[in-house]
Amino acid sequence: MSTMELKNVNKIYPNGYHAVHDFNLTIEQGEFIVFVGPSGCGKSTTLRMIAGLEDISSGDFNINGKRANELGPREREVAMVFQSYALYPNMTVFDNIGFGLSLQGVDDDVIEERVNKTAKILGLTDYLDRFPRALSGGQRQRVAIGRSIIRKVGIFLMDEPLSNLDAKQRVTMRAEIAQIHREAGATTIYVTHDQTEAMTLADRIVVMKDGYVQQVGTPKELYFDPVNVFVAGFIGEPPMNFVRGEVKGGKFALGDNVLDLAPVLGGKLAQYEGKRIVFGFRPESIELGEQAESYHISSTVELTEMLGDNTNVYIVTGTERAILKVDPHDTPALDSKLTFSIPHKSVYLFDDATEMVIK
Ligand code: ADP
Repeated sequence: MSTMELKNVNKIYPNGYHAVHDFNLTIEQGEFIVFVGPSGCGKSTTLRMIAGLEDISSGDFNINGKRANELGPREREVAMVFQSYALYPNMTVFDNIGFGLSLQGVDDDVIEERVNKTAKILGLTDYLDRFPRALSGGQRQRVAIGRSIIRKVGIFLMDEPLSNLDAKQRVTMRAEIAQIHREAGATTIYVTHDQTEAMTLADRIVVMKDGYVQQVGTPKELYFDPVNVFVAGFIGEPPMNFVRGEVKGGKFALGDNVLDLAPVLGGKLAQYEGKRIVFGFRPESIELGEQAESYHISSTVELTEMLGDNTNVYIVTGTERAILKVDPHDTPALDSKLTFSIPHKSVYLFDDATEMVIK
């Protein structure tokens, strides 16, 4: 069981590329932390520095309160699962899972007991005699995870472990990883570019962009209280709608609709007069028709996507476009006029210059 602390951690690669800037995070024992962000934002680099596979250029990394910058991967007692699960093709599932222990010279009967226990957690008991070629992608990935968790380390690191699986297997394995974490209880850091994986698995999410941490918070905090346009647009599917424009006479033009900003800007109205802002609202927080304490938006329907549990409605007003999520029974006709309401309390405003939220 382990806690970790990263203080002003930076990574500058030998070619001079500054991949991670002043990364700060304290990870509590047993926490499930997810690093999320677009490809190239520095997630894997940070994970590899924690694993000891990459030098830390500057800053402090502590495990259980002790400096760990200079420790090798083995001394850190971390287990890592990579996206490509390189199993030994000529070994059975049993031997693949137990191999690390036999290298350490653990007794055969202990290995057998631990492999059986691990296989039970992972639902692999019936497959222990099989070779990897006779397993599905999901089963292979479970063997790879088994090989890591059998080591009983305090820290479990996973880099896009589900990226080689198909959509259905990903959903199943996601639930299994959550279950394994509950049972094994190890502090876990999980890297993904997929916001759904982040939202469903994490105790806390670290959103990264261009090597900088944007926000750290619970899934709920990130969804309801994003600090900037990037986080607001990254968390949620379909993403938050954004309309950029100037505040003129306390009003804001959302396409053909002129909105009085007083109900959402309140005392800050004067401060933003003449400034450019970003007006954000989530596809799922609208209501059809004209509701109370809401902005009423008239628009035209350009496209609809029936998804079963909801319909995505693509609307246009003036030159602005947005996506709305509506009940499938309310799916509007193409090219029809649609009036919808954005509750004042569901509006997010950002400063267009800094992209930071206006509170
Ligand atoms: P992510 O995991 O978020 O996709 P990475 O941490 O792999 O991103 O990479 C972050 C940035 O660092 C990328 O721009 C990548 O090209 C760069 N990078 C990764 N490894 C090296 C390296 N060995 N040398 C130079 N730049 C690297």
